[in-house]
Amino acid sequence: MKDFPLFTLYPQLEARLPRVTLATLPTPVERLDRIGMEIGVPELFIKRDDLSGAVYGGNKVRKLEFLLGNILHKNAREVITLGFVGSNHALATAIYAKQLGLKSVSMLMPQVNAHYVRRNLLTSWYFDAHLTSCKNLPHLCLGIIGRLCRGIVQHGTLPRLIPAGGSCPLGVVGYVNAAYELRDQIIAGVLPEPDIIYVPLGSMGTAAGLMLGLRTIGLKSQVVPVRVIEERMASPKRMPQLIRETATLLHRYAPAFPGAEFALGDLEIRNDCLGEGYARFTEKAVNGADLMRRKTGIILNGAYSAKAFSALLDDAGKGILNGKTVLFWNTYNSRDLTQMAQSVDFRRLPRDFHRYFEEDVQPLDIKGVDR
Ligand SMILES: *Cc1c(COP(=O)(O)O)cnc(C)c1O
Repeated sequence: MKDFPLFTLYPQLEARLPRVTLATLPTPVERLDRIGMEIGVPELFIKRDDLSGAVYGGNKVRKLEFLLGNILHKNAREVITLGFVGSNHALATAIYAKQLGLKSVSMLMPQVNAHYVRRNLLTSWYFDAHLTSCKNLPHLCLGIIGRLCRGIVQHGTLPRLIPAGGSCPLGVVGYVNAAYELRDQIIAGVLPEPDIIYVPLGSMGTAAGLMLGLRTIGLKSQVVPVRVIEERMASPKRMPQLIRETATLLHRYAPAFPGAEFALGDLEIRNDCLGEGYARFTEKAVNGADLMRRKTGIILNGAYSAKAFSALLDDAGKGILNGKTVLFWNTYNSRDLTQMAQSVDFRRLPRDFHRYFEEDVQPLDIKGVDR
């Protein structure tokens, strides 16, 4: 199997898009025998992007290969990113920036508490991320401006900004390649061409890249993006735009890369699994995560992957998936961070973060899922 199918197909891209190798690719595809049997979907598969990195997996690694590759290429010394306090993206950035010798800064906004929030904060600290608590978006923007000025004064170079979730066209390219990687696995007989692919929809880069990749490689699989964040925080109107901008970027460097038009109406975003809001676990997501853990040992995340999986379970329950080949794209890390997190005392974190350790987690953060 080819190492990086996007570059094999469009060799000009390799010279124009600096990439650092962080991910272990291709990520495995496995059949979910026992769950498939239980829910009446025998052709049920999982794409193990949870194993995308040796230290930390999940969907942010494919994006960071291009985002951090670009930053290194520009000779920057510091990377700034942003998100909510439990951000998996901020943690992934901290880990891989450190591995590449870059200083990392995370600007983090408040969110509902969970065990994974605590673990991500402690692990970010373990990897020397500079953590800043921001009350709201205006406060966060001011923080970034301050940090940019400071970077220039301190090192004479401009720190580089990675947007929330790594979802800008350069990050999305990582998921265009992921679709091509899936195509290679289909050709190699690892799985049949899926009819339906379930994936969480947060900052939208993962779903956008997959949709663009599948369309431009000629796969007919329907992507079901399951929204896990309120529209006011991540407008779905941005998604067709993100796809278009990514196609334009690739087309600019590789003129043979096809154009692709998506309208908002084509996207079939699922809006019924969000529950009460971003990172607020739902009963059915927690139950789905529990099923996954019992049958496979794979841990889902209550804010993201468990909600996407709950959409799949809902549809199976309604009989919509009868006779279909279904792929669950697992976006959550499954490398164990416990030891690293446990080696950090939360009192060493900036004061504003202590409350996540002093206050309870949300009531549904139970059943040993994602701790
Ligand atoms: C960030 C994240 C997502 C959402 O991906 P986007 O590209 O932001 O839509 C899904 N699952 C997990 C586990 C994540 O950390």
